[in-house]
Amino acid sequence: MHRNEIVKELARLMPHLRTNEPLAPYTTIGVGGPADVFVEATMVEQIRQAVDVCEAAGVPHFLLGGGSNLIFADAGFRGVVIRNLADAFEILAETPDAPPPTPAVPDARFSPPPLDDAVQWPEEDTDAPAVLVRVAAGARLMPLMKQLFQHGITGLEWFAGIPATVGGAVFMNLHGGPRFFGDLVQRALLYRRGRFKTVDREYFRFGYDWSVLHDTREIVLQVDLRLRRGDVTRARQFVKVWAAYKANQPQRSAGCIFQNLSPEQQRRLDLPTTSVGYVIDRVLGLKGRQIGGARIAPAHAAFIENLGNATAADVLALIETVQQAARDRLGMELPLEVELVGFDGK
Ligand SMILES: Cc1cc2nc3c(=O)[nH]c(=O)nc-3n(C[C@H](O)[C@H](O)[C@H](O)COP(=O)(O)OP(=O)(O)OC[C@H]3O[C@@H](n4cnc5c(N)ncnc54)[C@H](O)[C@@H]3O)c2cc1C
Repeated sequence: MHRNEIVKELARLMPHLRTNEPLAPYTTIGVGGPADVFVEATMVEQIRQAVDVCEAAGVPHFLLGGGSNLIFADAGFRGVVIRNLADAFEILAETPDAPPPTPAVPDARFSPPPLDDAVQWPEEDTDAPAVLVRVAAGARLMPLMKQLFQHGITGLEWFAGIPATVGGAVFMNLHGGPRFFGDLVQRALLYRRGRFKTVDREYFRFGYDWSVLHDTREIVLQVDLRLRRGDVTRARQFVKVWAAYKANQPQRSAGCIFQNLSPEQQRRLDLPTTSVGYVIDRVLGLKGRQIGGARIAPAHAAFIENLGNATAADVLALIETVQQAARDRLGMELPLEVELVGFDGK
C-alpha cells in the first residue's frame, strides 16, 4: 500500500486524520516534532483497525496514551501515531479473584513525601465488597476515578493527579505512592498482528516501571480492574490531599525522568532515601541546571520541566548531563523512567 492509500484508508476509519502533525501538544512535557500521520481513536475497534492497516502496509506505528511518559525527538515520528481516546467502562456482574499477595512488587522504592501529620495514608478497604470494572485502555485515570466514585466504586485514589491512561498505566505498572497499578489488574484484552489475546495479571510479570509489554509491544485494548465498593467520602478526602501534593510536581514535564534507586543502591551509597531526586539535588548538585528551555525542576529534581520553549534536544542534553555526573561521581548508571521515541540509536 502506498502512503496516499494508507492515509485514505485511515481517514475512512478515523475522520480527523492529520498529516505532519506536531506531537508536542499531545505530550505533557510539550516537546517533539511532527508525526507523518496522526489519528485519534475513540473506540477500541478503531485502534485494532488502524493497527491492521499499518501492519499490512509495513508502516511503523506508535500507540499514544496520555503522553505523560514520553519524549518525542525534534525530528518527530516517521509513521503513524494512534492516539487512544477510547474511554468507555462497564461494571461487570462477576466477582473478582482475591487480590495478589502484597507487596506484589517487593522492590517498591517509595519514599513517603512530607505530608501533614494529620493525614493518614489510606489502608486498603479490605472489608468493602470487591467489584470488577471493564475499562477501555484510553480512559484517563482522573476522570475515570471521578466517574467511578459516582457509582460508589473506589480503589484508584493513589493514582490521583497522574495524567495517564489505563493502557499507559498497565504498560509502565504505574506507581501511585506505595501502590502499583498492576495489582488492580484482573485480566486484559491484548492485540497484536491480527490476534486478540485475553491474559490475566500474571502474564504481565509486573515489576518496577515494567511490564512484559516492553518486550512484546502488544497493545492493551481493555482492562478488567479489581476495585471496591468502598467509602467514597473517605476516598474523596484522600484524593484532595494527594492530588494537591501531586499538583506541586512540575506539570510541564514527563514525570520522573529517572528511576528511583534500588534499596541495594541506597545502602551502598549510604543515602537516607531511594529518591533519585535527592541524588540529583543533594549529591550531584544539579537542581535548577538549565539547558536551552529545559530545566531540572527546582520543585522536584527528578523532573525536567519545559520552561516554554524547550526542544527535545535540550531535554536530552540535560538527561545526559545528569547520567554522566552519576557515572563520574558515583560509579552508577541512572536508568530512564521515561521513553525516548524517534531519537537515533536510543
Ligand atoms: C506530572 C506527572 C506526574 C507523574 N506521576 C507519576 C507517578 O506518580 N507514578 C508513575 O509511575 N508515573 C508518573 N508519571 C509518569 C506517567 O504518568 C506514567 O508513566 C504513565 O503510566 C504513562 O501513561 P500514559 O498513558 O501517559 O502513557 P504514554 O506516555 O502515552 O505512553 C507510554 C508508553 O506506554 C505505551 N502505551 C500507552 N497506551 C498503551 C496501550 N493501550 N497498550 C500498550 N501500550 C501502551 C506507549 O506506546 C508508550 O510506549 C507522571 C507524569 C507526569 C507528567
